[in-house]
Amino acid sequence: MARIPEHEIERLKNEVSVATLAEQRSIVLKRQGDNLIGCCPFHDDKTPSLVITPDKNLWHCLGACQMGGSSIDWVMKANGISFRHAVELLRADSPLAAGVEGVRVKISRSVKLPSPVLPTDDDQELLNQVIEFYHQALLESPEALGYLAKRGITDHELIHRFKLGFSNRTLGYRLPAKNLKAGAEIKSRLQNLGILRESGHEHFNGSIIIPVLDPVGNVLEVYGRKIRDDLRTGTPMHLYLPNAHRGIWNEAGVAEANGEVILCEALIDAVTFGQAGYHNVTASYGVSGFTPDHFDPCRV
Ligand SMILES: [Zn+2]
Repeated sequence: MARIPEHEIERLKNEVSVATLAEQRSIVLKRQGDNLIGCCPFHDDKTPSLVITPDKNLWHCLGACQMGGSSIDWVMKANGISFRHAVELLRADSPLAAGVEGVRVKISRSVKLPSPVLPTDDDQELLNQVIEFYHQALLESPEALGYLAKRGITDHELIHRFKLGFSNRTLGYRLPAKNLKAGAEIKSRLQNLGILRESGHEHFNGSIIIPVLDPVGNVLEVYGRKIRDDLRTGTPMHLYLPNAHRGIWNEAGVAEANGEVILCEALIDAVTFGQAGYHNVTASYGVSGFTPDHFDPCRV
Protein backbone atom coordinates (compact mmCIF):
# COMPACT_ATOMS: atom_id res chain seq x y z
CA MET A 1 0.00 0.00 0.00
CA ALA A 2 1.67 3.15 -1.12
CA ARG A 3 1.64 6.35 0.89
CA ILE A 4 -1.22 8.68 -0.02
CA PRO A 5 0.28 11.80 -1.58
CA GLU A 6 -0.33 15.00 0.35
CA HIS A 7 -1.89 16.76 -2.65
CA GLU A 8 -4.43 13.94 -2.90
CA ILE A 9 -5.45 14.47 0.73
CA GLU A 10 -5.73 18.23 0.10
CA ARG A 11 -7.80 17.57 -3.01
CA LEU A 12 -10.29 15.43 -1.07
CA LYS A 13 -10.51 18.03 1.69
CA ASN A 14 -11.32 20.70 -0.91
CA GLU A 15 -13.48 18.79 -3.36
CA VAL A 16 -15.66 16.63 -1.14
CA SER A 17 -18.29 19.00 0.15
CA VAL A 18 -19.07 18.67 3.86
CA ALA A 19 -22.52 20.17 3.22
CA THR A 20 -23.23 17.42 0.69
CA LEU A 21 -22.07 14.75 3.12
CA ALA A 22 -24.49 16.17 5.70
CA GLU A 23 -27.33 16.31 3.19
CA GLN A 24 -26.69 12.69 2.26
CA ARG A 25 -27.61 11.91 5.86
CA SER A 26 -30.83 13.90 5.45
CA ILE A 27 -29.64 16.66 7.76
CA VAL A 28 -31.61 19.83 7.10
CA LEU A 29 -29.23 22.76 6.78
CA LYS A 30 -30.24 26.38 7.27
CA ARG A 31 -28.13 29.33 6.29
CA GLN A 32 -26.99 31.64 9.07
CA GLY A 33 -24.60 34.32 7.82
CA ASP A 34 -21.65 32.56 6.23
CA ASN A 35 -22.52 29.25 7.88
CA LEU A 36 -24.98 26.42 7.51
CA ILE A 37 -26.60 25.16 10.70
CA GLY A 38 -28.14 21.76 11.28
CA CYS A 39 -28.56 18.97 13.80
CA CYS A 40 -25.32 17.17 14.61
CA PRO A 41 -25.50 13.49 13.61
CA PHE A 42 -22.77 12.47 16.04
CA HIS A 43 -24.62 13.09 19.27
CA ASP A 44 -28.25 13.23 20.31
CA ASP A 45 -28.80 16.80 19.18
CA LYS A 46 -32.01 18.54 20.20
CA THR A 47 -30.94 22.03 19.22
CA PRO A 48 -29.11 22.42 15.93
CA SER A 49 -25.46 22.60 16.95
CA LEU A 50 -23.71 21.53 13.77
CA VAL A 51 -22.02 24.45 12.03
CA ILE A 52 -20.69 24.04 8.49
CA THR A 53 -18.63 26.78 6.88
CA PRO A 54 -18.90 26.13 3.13
CA ASP A 55 -16.22 28.70 2.19
CA LYS A 56 -13.65 26.75 4.15
CA ASN A 57 -15.40 23.39 3.75
CA LEU A 58 -15.08 22.79 7.50
CA TRP A 59 -17.54 21.69 10.17
CA HIS A 60 -17.77 21.65 13.91
CA CYS A 61 -20.28 20.80 16.59
CA LEU A 62 -21.04 23.37 19.29
CA GLY A 63 -22.97 20.79 21.30
CA ALA A 64 -22.12 17.74 23.33
CA CYS A 65 -19.66 16.01 21.04
CA GLN A 66 -17.55 19.05 20.09
CA MET A 67 -16.30 17.24 17.00
CA GLY A 68 -15.24 18.90 13.81
CA GLY A 69 -12.76 19.14 10.97
CA SER A 70 -12.62 18.46 7.26
CA SER A 71 -14.62 16.20 4.98
CA ILE A 72 -12.18 13.40 5.82
CA ASP A 73 -12.84 13.83 9.54
CA TRP A 74 -16.56 13.67 8.81
CA VAL A 75 -16.22 10.35 6.99
CA MET A 76 -14.01 8.99 9.80
CA LYS A 77 -16.61 9.89 12.45
CA ALA A 78 -19.58 8.82 10.34
CA ASN A 79 -18.16 5.34 9.86
CA GLY A 80 -15.92 4.93 12.88
CA ILE A 81 -12.92 4.29 10.65
CA SER A 82 -9.30 5.33 10.37
CA PHE A 83 -7.96 8.32 8.45
CA ARG A 84 -6.53 6.07 5.76
CA HIS A 85 -9.69 4.07 5.38
CA ALA A 86 -11.75 7.27 5.07
CA VAL A 87 -9.39 8.56 2.39
CA GLU A 88 -9.67 5.27 0.53
CA LEU A 89 -13.47 5.38 0.57
CA LEU A 90 -13.45 8.95 -0.71
CA ARG A 91 -10.91 8.23 -3.41
CA ALA A 92 -12.99 5.29 -4.56
CA ASP A 93 -16.05 7.56 -4.52
CA SER A 94 -17.69 4.90 -2.39
CA PRO A 95 -21.33 5.33 -1.39
CA LEU A 96 -20.25 4.04 2.04
CA ALA A 97 -18.33 7.24 2.68
CA ALA A 98 -21.34 9.22 3.87
CA GLY A 99 -22.11 6.56 6.45
CA VAL A 100 -25.79 6.70 5.57
CA GLU A 101 -27.94 3.60 6.31
CA GLY A 102 -28.84 5.33 9.59
CA VAL A 103 -26.09 3.42 11.37
CA ARG A 104 -25.13 4.71 14.76
CA VAL A 105 -21.66 6.15 14.83
CA LYS A 106 -19.24 4.12 16.85
CA ILE A 107 -15.83 5.49 17.56
CA SER A 108 -14.38 2.00 17.69
CA ARG A 109 -13.84 0.33 14.36
CA SER A 110 -17.35 -0.45 13.19
CA VAL A 111 -16.09 -1.07 9.69
CA LYS A 112 -13.01 -3.22 9.62
CA LEU A 113 -10.39 -3.52 6.99
CA PRO A 114 -9.42 -7.06 6.16
CA SER A 115 -6.54 -8.71 7.98
CA PRO A 116 -3.56 -6.43 7.35
CA VAL A 117 -1.33 -9.19 6.12
CA LEU A 118 -2.34 -11.42 3.26
CA PRO A 119 -0.53 -14.59 2.18
CA THR A 120 -0.54 -13.44 -1.45
CA ASP A 121 1.44 -10.28 -0.78
CA ASP A 122 5.17 -10.12 -1.40
CA ASP A 123 7.57 -9.26 1.42
CA GLN A 124 7.63 -5.55 0.61
CA GLU A 125 3.85 -5.36 0.69
CA LEU A 126 3.82 -7.40 3.90
CA LEU A 127 6.17 -4.94 5.58
CA ASN A 128 4.17 -1.97 4.27
CA GLN A 129 0.99 -3.46 5.74
CA VAL A 130 2.58 -4.09 9.12
CA ILE A 131 3.62 -0.43 9.25
CA GLU A 132 0.12 0.62 8.23
CA PHE A 133 -1.22 -1.55 11.05
CA TYR A 134 1.18 0.03 13.55
CA HIS A 135 0.13 3.46 12.30
CA GLN A 136 -3.53 2.72 13.04
CA ALA A 137 -2.57 1.27 16.44
CA LEU A 138 -0.80 4.54 17.30
CA LEU A 139 -3.86 6.61 16.42
CA GLU A 140 -5.90 4.48 18.81
CA SER A 141 -3.41 4.57 21.67
CA PRO A 142 -3.66 7.52 24.07
CA GLU A 143 -0.54 6.17 25.82
CA ALA A 144 1.60 6.26 22.66
CA LEU A 145 0.18 9.61 21.48
CA GLY A 146 0.88 10.94 24.98
CA TYR A 147 4.51 9.84 24.71
CA LEU A 148 4.87 11.65 21.37
CA ALA A 149 3.22 14.75 22.82
CA LYS A 150 5.72 14.67 25.69
CA ARG A 151 8.47 14.82 23.08
CA GLY A 152 6.75 17.73 21.36
CA ILE A 153 5.34 15.67 18.48
CA THR A 154 1.68 16.62 18.19
CA ASP A 155 1.11 17.45 14.53
CA HIS A 156 -1.25 14.84 13.11
CA GLU A 157 -0.42 15.74 9.55
CA LEU A 158 3.24 14.96 10.31
CA ILE A 159 2.29 11.74 12.09
CA HIS A 160 0.33 10.68 9.00
CA ARG A 161 2.94 11.81 6.50
CA PHE A 162 5.79 9.94 8.16
CA LYS A 163 3.52 7.06 9.09
CA LEU A 164 4.53 6.92 12.73
CA GLY A 165 3.19 3.90 14.55
CA PHE A 166 3.02 1.94 17.77
CA SER A 167 3.70 -1.72 18.37
CA ASN A 168 1.54 -3.03 21.20
CA ARG A 169 1.47 -6.80 20.73
CA THR A 170 -1.82 -6.76 18.81
CA LEU A 171 -0.36 -7.57 15.38
CA GLY A 172 -0.68 -11.27 16.12
CA TYR A 173 -4.45 -10.97 16.45
CA ARG A 174 -4.67 -9.76 12.88
CA LEU A 175 -2.78 -12.71 11.43
CA PRO A 176 -4.53 -15.78 10.13
CA ALA A 177 -4.76 -18.41 12.89
CA LYS A 178 -1.47 -20.13 13.70
CA ASN A 179 -2.58 -23.66 12.92
CA LEU A 180 -3.58 -22.75 9.40
CA LYS A 181 -0.92 -23.19 6.77
CA ALA A 182 -1.28 -19.59 5.64
CA GLY A 183 -0.87 -18.28 9.18
CA ALA A 184 2.29 -20.29 9.81
CA GLU A 185 3.74 -19.16 6.51
CA ILE A 186 3.12 -15.48 7.20
CA LYS A 187 4.58 -15.86 10.67
CA SER A 188 7.79 -17.30 9.36
CA ARG A 189 8.02 -14.56 6.73
CA LEU A 190 7.51 -11.90 9.42
CA GLN A 191 10.29 -13.59 11.38
CA ASN A 192 12.58 -13.37 8.36
CA LEU A 193 11.73 -9.68 7.99
CA GLY A 194 12.54 -9.15 11.67
CA ILE A 195 9.05 -8.01 12.71
CA LEU A 196 8.56 -11.13 14.83
CA ARG A 197 11.28 -12.76 16.90
CA GLU A 198 11.98 -16.47 16.97
CA SER A 199 9.76 -16.68 20.08
CA GLY A 200 6.87 -15.23 18.07
CA HIS A 201 6.90 -11.98 20.05
CA GLU A 202 6.85 -8.66 18.26
CA HIS A 203 10.38 -7.31 17.93
CA PHE A 204 9.25 -3.70 18.51
CA ASN A 205 6.75 -4.37 21.27
CA GLY A 206 6.16 -1.27 23.39
CA SER A 207 7.86 1.05 20.92
CA ILE A 208 6.94 4.06 18.88
CA ILE A 209 7.60 3.06 15.28
CA ILE A 210 9.26 5.31 12.73
CA PRO A 211 9.60 3.73 9.29
CA VAL A 212 12.10 4.81 6.66
CA LEU A 213 10.11 5.12 3.45
CA ASP A 214 11.26 5.31 -0.14
CA PRO A 215 9.80 8.03 -2.40
CA VAL A 216 6.74 5.91 -3.27
CA GLY A 217 6.03 4.91 0.30
CA ASN A 218 7.67 1.48 0.52
CA VAL A 219 9.12 0.68 3.91
CA LEU A 220 12.91 0.19 3.74
CA GLU A 221 13.85 0.17 7.42
CA VAL A 222 12.02 0.38 10.72
CA TYR A 223 13.12 2.16 13.89
CA GLY A 224 11.49 1.63 17.26
CA ARG A 225 11.84 3.72 20.42
CA LYS A 226 10.58 2.19 23.67
CA ILE A 227 8.10 4.49 25.37
CA ARG A 228 8.52 3.23 28.94
CA ASP A 229 11.61 3.89 31.00
CA ASP A 230 10.91 1.29 33.72
CA LEU A 231 12.06 -1.67 31.63
CA ARG A 232 14.58 -4.25 32.75
CA THR A 233 18.15 -2.90 32.89
CA GLY A 234 19.90 -3.53 29.62
CA THR A 235 16.74 -3.44 27.51
CA PRO A 236 17.68 -1.51 24.37
CA MET A 237 15.63 1.70 24.02
CA HIS A 238 16.35 2.02 20.28
CA LEU A 239 15.63 -0.87 17.95
CA TYR A 240 15.95 -1.54 14.23
CA LEU A 241 15.16 -4.40 11.94
CA PRO A 242 17.92 -7.00 12.26
CA ASN A 243 18.99 -6.84 8.60
CA ALA A 244 21.35 -4.21 7.13
CA HIS A 245 20.02 -0.65 7.35
CA ARG A 246 18.50 0.65 4.16
CA GLY A 247 17.22 4.00 2.98
CA ILE A 248 17.30 7.60 4.21
CA TRP A 249 14.60 8.93 6.45
CA ASN A 250 12.82 11.97 4.92
CA GLU A 251 14.67 11.52 1.63
CA ALA A 252 12.41 14.05 -0.11
CA GLY A 253 13.13 16.75 2.49
CA VAL A 254 16.85 16.09 2.29
CA ALA A 255 16.81 16.20 -1.53
CA GLU A 256 15.20 19.64 -1.43
CA ALA A 257 17.58 20.97 1.20
CA ASN A 258 19.75 23.83 0.09
CA GLY A 259 23.18 22.51 0.96
CA GLU A 260 22.56 22.19 4.68
CA VAL A 261 21.16 19.05 6.26
CA ILE A 262 20.46 18.56 9.95
CA LEU A 263 21.64 15.11 10.98
CA CYS A 264 20.29 13.52 14.15
CA GLU A 265 21.52 10.45 15.95
CA ALA A 266 18.06 8.94 16.31
CA LEU A 267 14.99 9.10 14.12
CA ILE A 268 12.78 10.25 16.96
CA ASP A 269 14.94 13.39 17.28
CA ALA A 270 14.68 13.98 13.53
CA VAL A 271 10.88 13.80 13.76
CA THR A 272 11.01 16.40 16.54
CA PHE A 273 12.94 18.71 14.20
CA GLY A 274 10.29 18.01 11.56
CA GLN A 275 7.60 19.05 14.01
CA ALA A 276 9.52 22.27 14.65
CA GLY A 277 9.26 23.09 10.93
CA TYR A 278 12.65 21.89 9.66
CA HIS A 279 12.32 19.93 6.41
CA ASN A 280 16.06 19.46 5.79
CA VAL A 281 16.50 16.88 8.52
CA THR A 282 17.39 13.21 8.63
CA ALA A 283 19.06 10.73 10.97
CA SER A 284 21.76 8.11 10.90
CA TYR A 285 21.09 4.78 12.54
CA GLY A 286 22.87 5.57 15.79
CA VAL A 287 26.29 7.22 16.09
CA SER A 288 28.04 4.66 13.92
CA GLY A 289 25.04 4.02 11.75
CA PHE A 290 26.03 5.60 8.45
CA THR A 291 25.17 3.52 5.44
CA PRO A 292 26.18 3.65 1.77
CA ASP A 293 22.72 5.16 1.12
CA HIS A 294 23.64 8.24 3.17
CA PHE A 295 26.69 8.87 1.00
CA ASP A 296 25.09 8.10 -2.35
CA PRO A 297 25.26 11.39 -4.30
CA CYS A 298 22.47 10.19 -6.60
CA ARG A 299 20.11 10.01 -3.65
CA VAL A 300 20.82 13.26 -1.84
ZN1 LIG B 1 -22.30 16.92 18.00
